[in-house]
Amino acid sequence: MSETDDAVDVAIIGAGVIGCAIAAAAARHGSSVLVLEREDREGTGVTSRNSGVVHSGLYYPPGSRKARACVRGQALVYEWAARRGVAHRRTGKLVIVPASAPRVDAAVAALHALHENARRSGARGCELISPERAARLEPSLPQCAAAMLCRHSGIIDVHELTRSLLADACQRDVVVATRAEVTRVTPGARDFTIESARGPVRATRVINAAGLYADRVARMVGLDDYTIYPCRGDYFRLRRTPRFEHLIYPVRAPGDPGLGIHLTLELDGGQRVGPDAEYVDARDDFGPAEHKHAVFLEATRRLLGPLAPEQLAYDGCGIRPKLRAPHETRDLDFILREQPAGFLHLLGIESPGVTAALALAEEVADGFLKGQAVVSG
Ligand SMILES: Cc1cc2nc3c(=O)[nH]c(=O)nc-3n(C[C@H](O)[C@H](O)[C@H](O)COP(=O)(O)OP(=O)(O)OC[C@H]3O[C@@H](n4cnc5c(N)ncnc54)[C@H](O)[C@@H]3O)c2cc1C
Repeated sequence: MSETDDAVDVAIIGAGVIGCAIAAAAARHGSSVLVLEREDREGTGVTSRNSGVVHSGLYYPPGSRKARACVRGQALVYEWAARRGVAHRRTGKLVIVPASAPRVDAAVAALHALHENARRSGARGCELISPERAARLEPSLPQCAAAMLCRHSGIIDVHELTRSLLADACQRDVVVATRAEVTRVTPGARDFTIESARGPVRATRVINAAGLYADRVARMVGLDDYTIYPCRGDYFRLRRTPRFEHLIYPVRAPGDPGLGIHLTLELDGGQRVGPDAEYVDARDDFGPAEHKHAVFLEATRRLLGPLAPEQLAYDGCGIRPKLRAPHETRDLDFILREQPAGFLHLLGIESPGVTAALALAEEVADGFLKGQAVVSG
């Protein structure tokens, strides 16, 4: 990359699932696109450490960007996966209230409120079902007081998804520079000069898709309104337990920054529980947290029934890029913000970011890349 090169139309900082989805969408619009990635390949950030769930959009305020992008993104990601041969499975998901739960009545009321929120958000395929039907769907579950089935929730190979998006972009002449950490951006009269570990480059438009580091990239151009608070989620693996067919979630506790420890399934038949939600200081400390075993054992027994301690083994973690500060109790929406003109930031792209990736990319390509004003929030 040399400073004398002509400016590219679009530079994207970050080759996670979001940057790669935007690259594929931008290339379809006929723009010349350069992706700058700090690591030596795509998808090694938040994109590499998550549950791989294709969500239905139950939890977000109706009309919010999270709700809209999740519902639209679910349809788009299944369509993409089917067309591109990306491994996925529509397992369906159960949200349950175990009959033994403390304050069962309040939990049942919260499940009904969640169902209503899903309906108002346009989530597809979600219905309240009887405890008997839940037992037929998952015979190994302890008795439920109430349950909701989300037929279209599922799982996807996130690594394959990211790779397929980037491969599609590269077929349309997108250039990817790896080991290209962006260190400084200088706005000019007509374009931006971006300095990276691979040298300077000029771009007419820039998109910040730097995940956990998006606030730091934003500060490079004077946008200091946002701080990302790393929020860690650990997982434990189930061993020699009955095989479940559905993702199984408890009703989320009010104010919980996560969804509550739940059962996630893997495409190869593996079963994990997690992630929990714990605010941490470091954005890059993935050291093991085996000390959480007792807490996970209790939560898993509450959700799935009897379990011996040796049936649960530590299995890694991911770190969420949250805009919600540790002392806050309300979730915040995905932020898309253009500042200065021509520079778009995507901030707080936590879950359901994988599900929403193609919808966010569509919004960026149809709005920002066509010169339309971006509605913040
Ligand atoms: C525990 C956990 C569970 C989750 N589960 C789900 C789920 O089940 N379903 C779902 O839909 N979503 C889930 N998510 C959310 C999802 O993983 C994220 O929303 C998504 O991966 C974010 O992708 P991204 O591209 O924004 O970020 P990243 O994947 O982090 O990509 C950002 C990229 O930018 C690069 N970068 C950073 N700074 C610079 C710089 N200065 N210069 C150049 N490159 C830079 C990084 O190296 C990185 O590759 C989960 C997240 C977590 C943490």
